[in-house]
Amino acid sequence: MSTDAIIIGGGHNGLVCASYLADAGMRVKVLEKNEQIGGPASTEEFHPGFRNSVGAYTVSLLNPKVINDLELHKHGLKIVERKVNNVFPHSDGNFLAFVHGRNELKKEIAQFSKHDAKQVDRFFSDIEMVSDQIRSVLLETPPNAGGGFKDVLRTAVLGNRFRKLNVDEGRVLLDIFSKSVSDFLDYYFKDQRVKAAFAFDGLVGTYSDTKQAGTAYVLAHHAFGEVNGKKGIWGHAIGGMGAITQSMAAYAQTKGVDIEVNCAVRRVVVKNNEAVGVELDDGEIIESSRVVSNLNPALLFRRMINASNLPEEFNRRMANYKNGSGTLRMNVALRDLPDFTCLKNHKRATEDHLTSGIIIGPTVDYLDQAYKDAEELGWSREPIIEMLIPSTLDDSLAPPGKHVASLFCHQFNPGLNWDVHRDKAARTVINQVEKYAPGFRELILGQQVLTPIDLERKFGLINGDIFHGKLSLDQMFSARPILGYGNYRTPINKLYMCGSGTHPGGGVTGIPGHNAAREILKDR
Ligand SMILES: Cc1cc2nc3c(=O)[nH]c(=O)nc-3n(C[C@H](O)[C@H](O)[C@H](O)COP(=O)(O)OP(=O)(O)OC[C@H]3O[C@@H](n4cnc5c(N)ncnc54)[C@H](O)[C@@H]3O)c2cc1C
Repeated sequence: MSTDAIIIGGGHNGLVCASYLADAGMRVKVLEKNEQIGGPASTEEFHPGFRNSVGAYTVSLLNPKVINDLELHKHGLKIVERKVNNVFPHSDGNFLAFVHGRNELKKEIAQFSKHDAKQVDRFFSDIEMVSDQIRSVLLETPPNAGGGFKDVLRTAVLGNRFRKLNVDEGRVLLDIFSKSVSDFLDYYFKDQRVKAAFAFDGLVGTYSDTKQAGTAYVLAHHAFGEVNGKKGIWGHAIGGMGAITQSMAAYAQTKGVDIEVNCAVRRVVVKNNEAVGVELDDGEIIESSRVVSNLNPALLFRRMINASNLPEEFNRRMANYKNGSGTLRMNVALRDLPDFTCLKNHKRATEDHLTSGIIIGPTVDYLDQAYKDAEELGWSREPIIEMLIPSTLDDSLAPPGKHVASLFCHQFNPGLNWDVHRDKAARTVINQVEKYAPGFRELILGQQVLTPIDLERKFGLINGDIFHGKLSLDQMFSARPILGYGNYRTPINKLYMCGSGTHPGGGVTGIPGHNAAREILKDR
């Protein structure tokens, strides 16, 4: 029996899209190439007895509507807050902690700069205003360029909403969408350590220094989320990020979605400019009334569809679709908790600080040098590293008394031959942590290393791009992935996109899947 929709890829957006389609009565099949669903939002046993999130490692952006509609809590999802947001160790043995509570944060920052502490309220007021604007369009389908009268009307409605902002707010929005994170932060902060702590989010998943235009938006992209109703903070899903996708799959299955794993799709079958099914790696053809891709657009259009089925200009644009985060991701199994010098040295450190994202990236110069080195040498000998130790919040991940840590490392040149350099780069990361937490190396019982090429091979993340394409102005909103196809549709009839390469981009949000399903159902 032919299905109503095949979803290529069982990433979280594929599962969300499948769930909404099945909710509306469609017969849906999800085809996932790996042995488990979830893509980078999955949990693996990477060392005997030690489990951790494989790619994504922390939750905030997951949309509350998706959580409610798919009854994720009822299907096992539990999210807990970090007790301290972030800690930034410094080479002089001090640290800056982003603690909860505005006044407490101001006190921390005042230790480094009284001026900067006074700017904190203004900064957060601006970021919250920007986040509210971003939130207001997250669940909308962007107006489609060349889409006709309805889209012109929707553009006007959208424009009218922004018209209600006052001039100061308009300026901040313009800054966010046009400036580098360094220039943006100059309006608020002077101290290089304080600035670096805020700038870090502008570089996450972005192969860049702090000076490249567009990085201010990346900072804002990491601020629109919430945990259990508390805005702008990050948390941990008990059981790792796989708990999110497992709860999505559980919901989808209650709606009759058929999920097949170990089932790689080789190509989309197109007849008379219409998607009619897919061909699997083993040559089997599965027919369907429509095909929905959860894949990076470059993977779908460059590798799974014959170029002759697509307009020439579309192919030209897709050939230049920008991918590549410069991300290296490690998991380590630890016999004990690491001993950060800075946390030992200071009375204001508590054990709660070990539940935070511990970010080695102490100054703006350090952040910028990491990119410079990556361009020249492949990666920095002093890389940017965020360490999260989720086992401090979740005892399901490691044996009693032992721990797991995620290492999320930035500015590793996506173009390097990582099969040659993988081990050396991983050693650099461990050596760098060792400088801030002596004895760390000796604690490691086992490790998993995913370089950009490993992320591509494992999940289809082209060039290791964690967002399915750079979050730059030319690849956002109506232009994601390409202007004219920002509404989850493609040049091929009955072929849709539902992954992070569509609005509003990457992160474990569930939003592309949600919005794509709505558009697919409109065309039914
Ligand atoms: C290292 C790393 C760290 C990250 N950290 C965070 C974080 O902490 N928080 C956060 O919110 N986001 C984070 N992200 C981003 C986030 O994980 C992704 O943006 C998001 O998971 C993408 O979801 P998706 O459903 O759009 O696509 P994917 O999850 O990529 O789904 C695509 C699916 O298709 C499958 N597939 C590929 N090729 C085929 C094929 N030929 N046939 C069948 N199936 C195929 C893949 O295996 C995958 O399951 C991180 C990503 C990475 C890589």
